[in-house]
Amino acid sequence: MNFKDSKSFDNHEVVEFCNDPETGLKAIIAVHNTNLGPAVGGCRMYPYADEGQALEDVLRLSRGMTYKSAVAGLPMGGGKAVIIGDPAKDKSPELFERMGKFIESFNGRYVTAEDSGTSVSDLKQVASQTAHVLGVNEAQEFGGDPSPLTAYGVFCGIESAVNYQLGRDNLSGVRVAVQGAGAVGRYLIKLLHEAGAKTSVCDVNLDNLNRARDLGSDIVDVNSIISAEADVFAPCAMGAILNDDSISQLKATIVAGGANNQLAHLSHATTLKNRGILYAPDFVINAGGIIEICRQLHDDPVSETKEKISHIGATLTEIFTQSHASGLTTAQVAERLAEQRFLSKQDSSNVA
Ligand code: NAD
Repeated sequence: MNFKDSKSFDNHEVVEFCNDPETGLKAIIAVHNTNLGPAVGGCRMYPYADEGQALEDVLRLSRGMTYKSAVAGLPMGGGKAVIIGDPAKDKSPELFERMGKFIESFNGRYVTAEDSGTSVSDLKQVASQTAHVLGVNEAQEFGGDPSPLTAYGVFCGIESAVNYQLGRDNLSGVRVAVQGAGAVGRYLIKLLHEAGAKTSVCDVNLDNLNRARDLGSDIVDVNSIISAEADVFAPCAMGAILNDDSISQLKATIVAGGANNQLAHLSHATTLKNRGILYAPDFVINAGGIIEICRQLHDDPVSETKEKISHIGATLTEIFTQSHASGLTTAQVAERLAEQRFLSKQDSSNVA
């Protein structure tokens, strides 16, 4: 297979495969860009149908990490790792130790962290073979889990979007439809309620749904969340949720949530703009977790993290303003902002 033929290949610096019959490890590490610093991104484990599907995923995700870190003004590049396997059946200490050796072979050019399908205990096995692992120190705030800080960034982004679109300087009485009350969604719901907002929530997981009900949310069917009466739609579950069909049903005039890759296609940002819906680009609004991961990488004081994450709100206001002035979509403006930074190696010390 030639990865350069993949539609997601976008001048990646390095893409390496590991196939180890002894431990059963089949994995790919993609380093997209290291102009601003080491390529940081999680290690995902998923039962991909074949290597081609895993390759598409790792290329798309590693590129996304470059853009996310650059817009957040972090001295880091973008990378990602995927393990082809079923997290429920295929895990073993040997497999993760072998993954650690694979990561170590990058000599720090790629730094890993937890992602869907992998846990802190898996990452500890990886860390037995390489120092280039973040989020395994349970003495960190929230046990190293970045989700609460991702939620905090999304909350700051919602405040900014509501202010820009609705001219309101607080969230009191604002209704937010939250799709997915998992790690990010449930912390977001708490923050929204503390700020006086109301939430309508759906989830396919009954425990998570009940937890949201206990927090005071109104429960909505999973098929009705898109068309729910709300000021803000906050996708906090799966990707590709914004497509022709869903956008035509949206009642909210703001889309601002934590899920990755919300647009089924980049052109859907135009569809949203044409409908007068303000879209907070996902890789800008959900950067709270990576800002915390960056703090761990540089061992910076915890006290600075929340202040840095709250800057997501100002970054979004700038993106909304530029989008309005230029006629470009907010997604296009955000991508350009990222490219200006990582292509010109503009590090965080130069970012407003
Ligand atoms: P999670 O798995 O803890 O939560 C996702 C929730 O969505 C679960 O409760 C799940 O049951 C629910 N869900 C799945 N399918 C659904 C559907 N069709 N309708 C409604 N609910 C559904 O994951 P998370 O860590 O909260 O991440 C949520 C999203 O945010 C993901 O897209 C993730 O990639 C993204 N994200 C997470 C972080 C982080 O720090 N955790 C950082 C950046 C981006």
